[in-house]
Amino acid sequence: MQNPIKKVVILGGGTAGWISAALTKKLLGEAIDIELVESEAIGTVGVGEATIPPIQLLNNVLGLNEAEFLRETKATIKLAIKFENWKQQGHHYYHTFGAAGKSMAFCHFHHLLKRVGELEDDSRLWEYDLNYLCAEAGKFAKINAKDPIIDMPYAYHFDAGLYAKFLRKYSEKMGVVRTEGMVEHVEQCPDTGNIVSLKLKDGQSVQGDLFLDCSGFRGLLIQEKLRTGYEDWSQWLQCDRAIAVPSERHEHTAPYTRSIAHSAGWQWRIPLQHRNGNGLVYSSAHYSEDEATNILLSNLDTKPLADPKLIRFQTGRRYKQWNKNVIAVGLSSGFLEPLESTSIHLIQSAVVRLAHLFPHQGITEDIVNEYNKQSKVEFEQIRDFLILHYHVTERDDSRFWRDMRNMDIPETLRHKIDIFKRNGRLFRDQNDLFLESSWLQVMLGQGIVPQDYHPLANSMTEQHIRDTLNRIKQIKDEPVAKLPTHDEFIANMCKM
Ligand code: FAD
Repeated sequence: MQNPIKKVVILGGGTAGWISAALTKKLLGEAIDIELVESEAIGTVGVGEATIPPIQLLNNVLGLNEAEFLRETKATIKLAIKFENWKQQGHHYYHTFGAAGKSMAFCHFHHLLKRVGELEDDSRLWEYDLNYLCAEAGKFAKINAKDPIIDMPYAYHFDAGLYAKFLRKYSEKMGVVRTEGMVEHVEQCPDTGNIVSLKLKDGQSVQGDLFLDCSGFRGLLIQEKLRTGYEDWSQWLQCDRAIAVPSERHEHTAPYTRSIAHSAGWQWRIPLQHRNGNGLVYSSAHYSEDEATNILLSNLDTKPLADPKLIRFQTGRRYKQWNKNVIAVGLSSGFLEPLESTSIHLIQSAVVRLAHLFPHQGITEDIVNEYNKQSKVEFEQIRDFLILHYHVTERDDSRFWRDMRNMDIPETLRHKIDIFKRNGRLFRDQNDLFLESSWLQVMLGQGIVPQDYHPLANSMTEQHIRDTLNRIKQIKDEPVAKLPTHDEFIANMCKM
């Protein structure tokens, strides 16, 4: 006989803890009690500012008001990431959340471009992408278009600490109990090995049936107590440190993240309403901490507002993200560097997965295995997408980039690259977070031009293709001139 799950305990009040609390309470409602334990003395990792479009689904499900959310979290709009110096120094491309052009008769748009010679070096692909056009022009407004050709998917940059605070208020209103205190001891059932309670420094004991470990990199329950183990991916993703520093805001905020490659890592620049978030992700085998700090500070374009903060990490994932009655969510579950801003999404996705598989009647092996299988695939798909950015490059100006070019890559990624190289075919694996348009932009942007196009592109004459391209370009250009600037949009929303 299994024990029904009536009480969920969340350990940790960072972004992972409070997203888990808010979403679990919203999705599972009255059926369970939730208690969150956090220690202000320990604090949170305090970085993590760029997101991807599914965050809108999270906010919508929670019923958050967008204007209030933007105001409370000092958020700005993100339409894309601009990758600078990744293919070669001096070169840049965008990975936008949109899609260029329009697929016709089951034929992906880029095959048409290839047929008329527009996909070669410095491809014109992005000229047909509204996200790109608005990112470059610094424009934004929500477009409620019926025609998907002028859809403009977006996400946010925000202060993750403020977002956690915002969700704390929300969760407590919904009935989540918050307990302040430092966990000093974890009690396990001697028969099953399940966690029974958390003992706090002040003597309190917090009991539960299911525990979400949101305790950050250390994984207090999943690793320190249950010794679950970690699959290390640093042979492919060699960066293992980040130095973060906030700086003064720009006069104008750009609606995109900048990712600027250096000789052994890359720098993020994220514009918020009140400041910029900056950081350098780097490989400690290639830079010393002092070198990395100097590179970051000398490449800031506004004045730093605090001392640089060093964060160590190991890229990879827990062998099991659900072990016994503990589910690791957030940094405790694994870490993939923030190159494509996926960590906060992984929190959201873990909680939604848990809600789908929630063991109301008790934990069973099949549910745990299913959860772990899905989490593994999700992490691996993102891992492959990140490796693509490093491996496909023409840079050979440093040992780091030469190592990246020459490394063996996972077979799953090799297969995708080879197929695309031959004739531009793109295959999105089931449930892959990244759409074909994302794979296309990064493959092209990093320098792979397919040798041929798909024969489906022969279903139109060359003249017909050119006329269609001109029409699409006009349709995409038209809204840009009429839209307000990104700053005007944010200012108006925040007044609401
Ligand atoms: P933490 O923030 O570390 O929180 C841990 C919590 O556990 C704290 O509340 C702490 O008090 C509590 N705790 C720990 N031990 C105890 C104890 N003994 N007793 C009581 N409480 C305890 N994600 C994105 O989506 N986009 C980004 O751009 C992005 N950039 C990042 C850049 C870097 C350099 C890093 C490292 C991460 C980035 N992330 C990003 C990831 C994002 O920051 C994290 O996913 C997110 O903040 C979740 O952190 P967490 O809540 O798991 O852990």
